[in-house]
Amino acid sequence: TTPKEFLLAVEGLTVSFDGFKAVDDLSFYVDPDEIRVIIGPNGAGKTTALDLICGRTKASSGSIRFRGQELTKMKEHQIVHAGVGRKFQNPSIYDDLTVFENLEISFPRGRTVFGALAFKRDAEVRDRVEEIAEMIFLADHLDDRAEFLSHGQKQWLEIGMLLIQDPELLMLDEPVAGMSVSERVKTAELLNRIIKGRSVIVIEHDMKFAEDIATRVTVLHQGKVISEGDMAHVKADPKVVEVYLGH
Ligand code: ADP
Repeated sequence: TTPKEFLLAVEGLTVSFDGFKAVDDLSFYVDPDEIRVIIGPNGAGKTTALDLICGRTKASSGSIRFRGQELTKMKEHQIVHAGVGRKFQNPSIYDDLTVFENLEISFPRGRTVFGALAFKRDAEVRDRVEEIAEMIFLADHLDDRAEFLSHGQKQWLEIGMLLIQDPELLMLDEPVAGMSVSERVKTAELLNRIIKGRSVIVIEHDMKFAEDIATRVTVLHQGKVISEGDMAHVKADPKVVEVYLGH
């Protein structure tokens, strides 16, 4: 039998800070076209795990394979180039630029082109910006300066800035923090729409939202996976109950 093709295979990943193992022999696997939600108490190692995958933090041991490539050997920009996008909690949008401009500057730069080719490229960029703006519910706000968007719209814009680079893996850290109920519903809709041909890993504290979006849930505690499966499964797992309800 052929081994199953994972989009992402994290195996035996470990990193220590001053002797403390923030991520400790961590293994988990993400399929294509899935939304994986990572939950776990504060300090469980969730953010560190994403930092390791995107190359912001270097692992002391273990491997991260993404479409056959070993990410632990790559630099942060090479990992972005390989197709991994990461959104942090604080939006890194440009306040004084419009929605259109924010998306446009995020379009991946190819070779410099001139004349008719440049014209064609401009049209291609414009089409792609409009397509993404539609997806992130900002089609009617293309000319608005980013600073005037609502908190939720800013989060969507940043997701759009990652989507325009067409990553195969998108990692989001608490994407609905501070959003209204209706914005959360739309964000769930957005995530479900973008997993055709890509996967999303979401760190989430809001259990309702996690349940709405998760294909599968991975529960971290003390840098390790303590439970994995659909939300109903992990919620009923005594190990998870113990960690969440205290000892
Ligand atoms: P979570 O995202 O699940 O809340 P983190 O990954 O942020 O957990 O942190 C896991 C543990 O590692 C915490 O105890 C945290 O204090 C520690 N930690 C994270 N990053 C660093 C760092 N750069 N230096 C020292 N300790 C860190």
